[in-house]
Amino acid sequence: MKNIAVIGSGTMGNGIAHTFAQFGFQVQLIDISQAALDKGMATITKNLDRMVAKEKITEADKNQTLNNITTYTSIKDGVQYASLVVEAATENVDLKLNIFRELDEVCPDDTILATNTSSISITQIAAVTNRPELVIGMHFMNPVPIMKLVEIIRGYTTSDEVMQFIVDLTKKTNKIPVEVNDYPGFVANRILMPMINESVETLYNGVAGVKEIDTVMKLGMAHPMGPLQLADFIGLDVCLSILEVLYEGFKNPKYAPCPLLVNMVRAGKLGVKSGEGFYDYSESRKAEHVAKQFA
Ligand code: NAD
Repeated sequence: MKNIAVIGSGTMGNGIAHTFAQFGFQVQLIDISQAALDKGMATITKNLDRMVAKEKITEADKNQTLNNITTYTSIKDGVQYASLVVEAATENVDLKLNIFRELDEVCPDDTILATNTSSISITQIAAVTNRPELVIGMHFMNPVPIMKLVEIIRGYTTSDEVMQFIVDLTKKTNKIPVEVNDYPGFVANRILMPMINESVETLYNGVAGVKEIDTVMKLGMAHPMGPLQLADFIGLDVCLSILEVLYEGFKNPKYAPCPLLVNMVRAGKLGVKSGEGFYDYSESRKAEHVAKQFA
C-alpha cells in the first residue's frame, strides 16, 4: 500500500493525513474547500514544527512528511491511485452516503473505503456501495497525531481480510487498534456520552456546580479533564447529536439527552468553538483556560 486518500481537511482529516504521511505513505488530502485545505496544511506544518522543537522528529522528517501530502479539491482526481480512502468529512448522514456512492464509482475496484464517523452506522454506509465487504470504520481520536487509540469498526459486511489489513496498517502508524462491532456509538462514545449526559443531568438537578462536578471527576477518578469541560472541547452540538444517535439506535430512555444540554445547543452555547459552554472561552479568558488545560 502506497497511496492513501483522506477526505476532509478539517480537525480530524488533517491529523489523519499528517499521521499517514509521517509514516511514509503518499497522502492525497481532499476537501471541497480550498480554504480548508490551506488551513489543514498550515495546521500540519505547525504541528510538525512543534514535534521538531520537542526533538521528536528532525527537520528532514518534517519536510519529507509535507512532501508526502498532495492536496485536491476533486474526489475523482484525488482517489484514482488510492489503495485506501479514509473519509473524515462533516458528520452528516446524507453527505457521507453521497461521498461513498461517489467513491464506489470512481475508486479502483479493490480500494478499501474507511470512514472516521463518530456515530453513523458503518453497515448503512457500506450498503450504498457495491463493495460492502471493503467498507470499514477507522475511528481516530482528537488530536490524531498524539492520540494512540484507533477504534476499528467491523460493519456487518466487512470481510475478515479487510479487518486484519486495517488493524496491521494502524499498527504501522504506531497506534493501537481496538476491534469493535458496528452498534450505535461503537465503544468510545457509547460509554463517554452517557457519562457526559449524566454530568449535565447532575448540574441540571442542582446537585453541584460546574467546577464541583468536574473537580470530583478529575481528582476522584483521575480523569485528566472533567466531563463538562470535555463536552465543551468536543462541542455540545456534537455531544447532543451523538446522544440522539444512541437514543434512536437503542430506543432506550437512558440515552435521552438532558434538557439542559438541548437548551444550551439551541441557545448557540456550543463550548470552546462558540466562545461559551459550561465555561467562558471569551477572548479575555481563553488564554487562562488553555493554560490550565495543558499545564
Ligand atoms: P470538520 O468540520 O473540522 O471538518 C470537516 C471537513 O470536511 C471540512 O473541511 C469540510 O470542508 C469538509 N467537507 C465537507 N463536505 C465535503 C465533501 N463532500 N468532500 C470533501 N470534503 C468535505 O470536522 P471534523 O471534526 O474533522 O470531523 C470529521 C469527521 O470525524 C466526522 O465524521 C466526525 O464525526 C469525526 N470525528 C470527529 C472527532 C473530533 O473530535 N472532532 C473525533 C472523532 C471522529
